[in-house]
Amino acid sequence: MNKHILTLTFIAILFSCKNNKQNNGKLNVVTTTTMITDLVNNIGGDLINVQGLMGSGVDPHLYKASEGDVTKLVNADIIFYGGLHLEGKLVEVFEKMAHQNIKTIAVSDALDAKTLISSEYFQGNYDPHIWFNIGYWKTITNYVVKTLSEASPENKGAFEANGKRYIEQLNQLEIEIKSIIDTLPKDKRILVTAHDAFSYFGKEYGFNVVGLQGISTATEAGVQDVQKLASFIIEHQVKAIFVESSVPKRTIEALQAAVNSKNHHVAIGGTLYSDALGSAGTVESTYIGMFKYNVNTIVNALK
Ligand code: ZN
Repeated sequence: MNKHILTLTFIAILFSCKNNKQNNGKLNVVTTTTMITDLVNNIGGDLINVQGLMGSGVDPHLYKASEGDVTKLVNADIIFYGGLHLEGKLVEVFEKMAHQNIKTIAVSDALDAKTLISSEYFQGNYDPHIWFNIGYWKTITNYVVKTLSEASPENKGAFEANGKRYIEQLNQLEIEIKSIIDTLPKDKRILVTAHDAFSYFGKEYGFNVVGLQGISTATEAGVQDVQKLASFIIEHQVKAIFVESSVPKRTIEALQAAVNSKNHHVAIGGTLYSDALGSAGTVESTYIGMFKYNVNTIVNALK
């Protein structure tokens, strides 16, 4: 075998290893939350393999990687996660993957830190619930398009077309959301939920947002917090408070009981999708469906 053929053989082995990892020549992409999974599916479509680690109703703040997750992560070409400590218990795993030369991408890196809400609970940290600003989600859409295009240049045109189409849908969503919220008087825009997931939403649409737990569900609400918030609800005549699909509803029920014990009434206005989308097959299983569902639920209950 001459030197030339030997080099070719070596290249072929390298190429076949890469192909093994790349499953039918498609990129293996692993995502964390259902919001990110939905976005990446919209951009990548059938051109990539997408595996989401977290399902509907799963709380990313408390999520720990299973053995099966680690296998998926090791075999990934790209990992997309939220960042800003959203997946607080996965940070170390992601660092390990980055060391193995797997492209490990925090989608929040697409945003300018100056536009983020700082956390009053953890100094130097930012609120990770960035998906509740549709404008930010558009910026992140472009970031996902760029990242996938760099990893799979032959599909660049398709990723860009999908991204463009998706951003048009997000533009439409913004218009719809605004017209629904416009029907709710400004003094009724008080949103009380289980944890502080809606600050970006509140900032964008003029809601005073109060979460019983902080920006991470890892901090439990104390009895004092419940009493304080109950007084706030009575003082501001808040009609309804909201359960979240990824947080046990007992915290909000305790808050309702505290309001009732002071001879006032507050309704539970429904379940909002905060840190996870709805289950497969429902309208709320997509980011766009979730956003509309949440806004309709909030506005109907507070009107
Ligand atoms: Zn959260």
